[in-house]
Amino acid sequence: MSDNEYNEGIHEIHSFEVDEFDIVCGPVCGGKVVSSTGVVPARHQVHFNQIFADAKTRALFMMMLNHVRATSETISYPYRCDTETHCVYLRAVVSKSSTMHVGFVNKVMEYELRPENARLVCSLSSENPDFTLCSICNRLRHENQWLEFQQLVDQEIWPADGKPMGCQFDTCANCENALRQRVAETQRSYTAKAACTALHAVQGG
Ligand SMILES: [Zn+2]
Repeated sequence: MSDNEYNEGIHEIHSFEVDEFDIVCGPVCGGKVVSSTGVVPARHQVHFNQIFADAKTRALFMMMLNHVRATSETISYPYRCDTETHCVYLRAVVSKSSTMHVGFVNKVMEYELRPENARLVCSLSSENPDFTLCSICNRLRHENQWLEFQQLVDQEIWPADGKPMGCQFDTCANCENALRQRVAETQRSYTAKAACTALHAVQGG
């Protein structure tokens, strides 16, 4: 396989917008919205809720959506969206793209090829999954620890022979706390700005 073929899919991380009815519009390119749950055909009306495979990720993203919608603040955070062959490092920016729409813009910052013997071959499985994957940092839970995929391969916990593993998504405590903290920080700056505006209005009036 050529390097080009390997790299296919890495840039298929599409940005999208969510309208005032929580419907996903877009995508910006490619004709499909890619999420942790897979590929959603563009023609179907997809509710924002439906693009997340697990309740915790869904709740976190709903919180971000509602926060940005209410305050017009911008939230930016790093995340991973690994492919079978690559570690892919992205930055997401969540901001108001118009008065009614909130944009989720995902940008690939860098990516690296995995070692030859390490292929992340998994399928989404909610019943008796072999592994749980953090939807933000893509680490995998193993005995109450969140480990890098490469660590699981090195410790022979993940089969290196390319056998597909059933995976479910969740959010690790680190990522959940980091996102909640970002929202809390921008909430504080929003509240401070609002108080300042109110004070000016009082002084001006
Ligand atoms: Zn995580």
